Order: sequence, then C-alpha cells, then structure tokens
Amino acid sequence: MKFCSHCRADVVVAIPEGDNRERYICSACELIFYENPRIIAGSIPVFDDRILICKRSIEPRLGYWTLPAGFMENGETTLQGAWRETYEESLAKVEIGALFSICNVPRINQVHMFYLAQMTNDHFGPTPESSEVKLVSADQIPWDDIAFATVKQTLKRFLADRDANQFRLHHLEF
Ligand SMILES: [Zn+2]
Repeated sequence: MKFCSHCRADVVVAIPEGDNRERYICSACELIFYENPRIIAGSIPVFDDRILICKRSIEPRLGYWTLPAGFMENGETTLQGAWRETYEESLAKVEIGALFSICNVPRINQVHMFYLAQMTNDHFGPTPESSEVKLVSADQIPWDDIAFATVKQTLKRFLADRDANQFRLHHLEF
C-alpha cells in the first residue's frame, strides 16, 4: 500500500498509539488501514456416494481440481458464502449441512471453511471459474492434481469420517 484510499496522501508504516503491531497509517488524515485474515467458504457437495469437484480455469492453480469455495462477500454468512460459491463454480444447488473443516493458513492470512453439502439434484456444469465439473467416487479422486492442501486434507478427512460413519468438525493448521 502506498497511498491513502481516503485522501490519496502517502501512507507510512508505524505502530498506532495503544496498538502493538505495525499498520499502514495515512500521513495526512491519519486513517489506519488494518489488514486481517480473509475467509474462504466452500462445500463438499455430495450426490449419492460421489463428490463434486471442479477443475480450475483461473489462477492460482489453473488446471488443478478443487472443491467449490471462494472469498466471502461482505454482508453474507459463511453458510451463504459456501452456498453461493458452490453454485457460482459448479452450478450445483446444495443443502448446506454441518461445518466440517476449519483450515487455518496463517502464512497467507486465510481461513478456509468447508461445509458438508447434499446436492438437491444431479444438475451441475462448467462455469467461468471451472473448465470442468464432475462427480467422483472415492477411488476416482485425482490426489496428485488437487489444487490446495486445505482441499486435499478436507477430502481425506471427509472420506475417513464417512467410512467411520461419523462426521465431526476438524480444526486444521497448514
Ligand atoms: Zn488519508
């Protein structure tokens, strides 16, 4: 950040009074720009015994497979974000269930949250963000071509929980 988005003056890096870490601060209007982690909400859409996965048609990790997920928008809940992202990336309509995984990725200041989700029918298809969308059984998951570690771990734990017939909430760190 170089300029204040409020008044266009230069910003400086300093610890505000009463704070304990460096922030960007406007040198003119003294506005403080706090930077905080972002939340990515997504789902594990299931139809019968198969899982819906999406091939990314955008960077990062173009061409790799992922669960539908994306940055939350202001004004929505994590559940609404997960539903919206699932629809935007796969055209699948789901009933969102329990929260399944909370993946902390402090290295890149992100938190990824995945919900269990039942597809209400078998309609889905490619979108501007996904060049290909498909339902896969457990033995068809392309483990070497999964886009993100958070997705890979969420899928592994989902399959393990499903085999054990008991889903629980997973707190994960990356
Ligand atoms: Zn300013």
